[in-house]
Amino acid sequence: MSDTQADSSDVREIRINPIVPSESVLVATARSMRPKKAEDLAPRDTRKHVETCPFCRGNEHKTPPQIMAWPDADDWHIRIVENLYPVLGDERAQAGFNFGLQQTIDGYGRHEVIIDHDEHGIAVHEMAESHLAGLFGVYQTRMRQLFESDDRLKYVLIFKNFGPAAGASIPHTHSQVIAMPVVPVNVDAEVTNSAAHYAKHHHCIFCALIDEALTFEATIYDRASGAVRRKINVGQYVVERGEKFIAIKPFASRYEWEVHILPLSHQADFLDMHDEDRADLARVMKRTMARLDAVIGGAQYNFFLHTVPHDGKQGAHAHSYHWHLEICPRTSIPTGFELGSGLFVNTINPEQAAERLRAITL
Ligand SMILES: [Zn+2]
Ligand SMILES: [Zn+2]
Ligand SMILES: [Zn+2]
Repeated sequence: MSDTQADSSDVREIRINPIVPSESVLVATARSMRPKKAEDLAPRDTRKHVETCPFCRGNEHKTPPQIMAWPDADDWHIRIVENLYPVLGDERAQAGFNFGLQQTIDGYGRHEVIIDHDEHGIAVHEMAESHLAGLFGVYQTRMRQLFESDDRLKYVLIFKNFGPAAGASIPHTHSQVIAMPVVPVNVDAEVTNSAAHYAKHHHCIFCALIDEALTFEATIYDRASGAVRRKINVGQYVVERGEKFIAIKPFASRYEWEVHILPLSHQADFLDMHDEDRADLARVMKRTMARLDAVIGGAQYNFFLHTVPHDGKQGAHAHSYHWHLEICPRTSIPTGFELGSGLFVNTINPEQAAERLRAITL
């Protein structure tokens, strides 16, 4: 069969992101769109301890200065240290400049590394739930400290690159914290669009998406012929459900195995998550990552936290914005089509991807 020949199950449609409509995804399961297979991806480092690794136990003196340790400095399982190569720094007080269309703003900020675990190559789904709950607690503590340390900081981005395919430059499992004086454009687009949705419909669009993912059931018929165009089933987008959190496969997923985790009850600010809810987040996270790892066969991914910016307007966005964690496994490299069009190409139908993730027995 030639590369361009389509089979009847192929899907070709452009899906509009319901939260950020300017962001669309081409779902094209045709063979010709399929990128190079994941076998080309370099394997991740799975060793437990590496003598020469500065992030491994016993090498604490080899890291930049320690900012925080959990549960304590002598017997740590998680550490936060300064980034050796910060993308933003607090020392340089360079003024912004304007010249014609050239504008800069001060690159003020903080860039720190969180050593997520004392075990070198451990994956998130291999970590104990209690450890993961501790990690989310560390995220909250550090985010709060940074916001309190300087009111110029408007956003604290916490993210993780896991595996060489996701751009991780240090093999020891770690997350990063970047505190910045601007609201990142992706977050701003979500905040602005969800506020507009709230102004019109008086409810949070993220809550509405959770409701749809959980309970929506519909059959859409063709107006002319009466044939069934699409069936939407109960819980079709749910990957994992906890008591307080839910993992959802977005309808307009940019990445084949992209999954979002959200609190089931409305909450705008990650910092407002209660201590007792962290265990459920840890459980949903661990189970979701285990599903991804099993389906992909060794998940390499980026994940990042989106929470309401502390830009003085967080009160106004408290009802319209809803914090979440976006997990984007990297199974292919963006091509010229994606870079040139700005359209993400997803070669796996998100409904089928969700089904395959749910089918994994844990
Ligand atoms: Zn290490
Ligand atoms: Zn909500
Ligand atoms: Zn988001």
